[in-house]
Amino acid sequence: MHVESIYKNANALLEGHFLLSSGKHSRYYLQSAKVLESPKVAEELACALAAMIKMHSLEIDTICSPALGGVLAGYELARALGKRFIFAERVNGEMSIRRGFDIAQGEKILVCEDIITTGGSALEAARVAQSMGGIIVGFAALANRGFCQRVGSELKGKPTCKLPHDVPFFALADFEFDIYEPSECPLCKEGSKAIKPGSRGN
Ligand code: ZN
Repeated sequence: MHVESIYKNANALLEGHFLLSSGKHSRYYLQSAKVLESPKVAEELACALAAMIKMHSLEIDTICSPALGGVLAGYELARALGKRFIFAERVNGEMSIRRGFDIAQGEKILVCEDIITTGGSALEAARVAQSMGGIIVGFAALANRGFCQRVGSELKGKPTCKLPHDVPFFALADFEFDIYEPSECPLCKEGSKAIKPGSRGN
């Protein structure tokens, strides 16, 4: 499966000058919502991810995603695996699991995102699920930004990866591109201004 072509065909691999949530700048941005606006494509991606996870005969009871970004990918993955789906959401900045979702003691949970960069939100969702009695058996994402090491890739993780090393991380592809400190950003030096993805209709 050519995940990069799928993102390009959906105009989801944006080129410009972007201010990332980490505060860093980048020439590229992955807008997964554009890929997932097609339920058929979302299903194909989730089925490929599910097949990859099944090869590792991981025992999973439930998929949990951090809202909002991870919800569509996680829901489709849960459907493909035939598992329950719940989500975590930020309330006043704190990740929490609400909406009447219960987690049983020892329930095996896989945390699913659309994109994993350093894995910060995924880790926060995992911690909340753990605090309610869940056991985190894996992490998954449609795409990996190259900071964390995924199962089956030779690309080594970076020290900034926040995901635990003793739990497998599954993703369909690595999308590695440079990010810059604002003071060292070549795009800023050319005189353009970084924009927040989503702020101008992108
Ligand atoms: Zn810049």
